[in-house]
Amino acid sequence: MSLTRCGNGHMFSTRRHGNTCPYCNLAVESPAASNGEAAGAIPRAPRTAEDDRTMPYLGETTGIEPVTGWMVCIEGPQMGQDYRIMAEKNFIGRSEEMHVRILGDNTISRRNHAVIVYDPKKRNFYLLPGDASGLAYHNNEAVYSPVELAAYDVIQLGRSKFIFIPLCGVHFEWEQQ
Ligand SMILES: [Zn+2]
Repeated sequence: MSLTRCGNGHMFSTRRHGNTCPYCNLAVESPAASNGEAAGAIPRAPRTAEDDRTMPYLGETTGIEPVTGWMVCIEGPQMGQDYRIMAEKNFIGRSEEMHVRILGDNTISRRNHAVIVYDPKKRNFYLLPGDASGLAYHNNEAVYSPVELAAYDVIQLGRSKFIFIPLCGVHFEWEQQ
């Protein structure tokens, strides 16, 4: 997840805003920095869902990065799993730096196997080939250039298949600020 929480409890997207809270401009430590500080000290208990429930961020739901659609795995090791698609470019691969991280299928490239784009101006989705060695397939056709995605199109990456489900588009769009 790219959501983080500043010291004042605001939820925001580090992917969109970096390490500075857009609500109060408080800088958030990077995970690497806090690990360094913790070295040699007594490790803190890992955060749990319990902590999340007690954090007051009601009314600050604007800090949630709005989903625009989903990929749902229908074949492969992650069958049944859904993946959130956000606005603009979503890089897909096994690496933790990917926006859509698919684990368990080593025939999917670590980085940039494919890209799904949601264009909030035109309100449509595209599947783009990545720069990795593996091909992406759109309804069983290899993808060499951007193809527009429609509801229930099938995307194949490695030996995994996914159904594309749009949320945003002609029927719905998040309110622009
Ligand atoms: Zn804040």
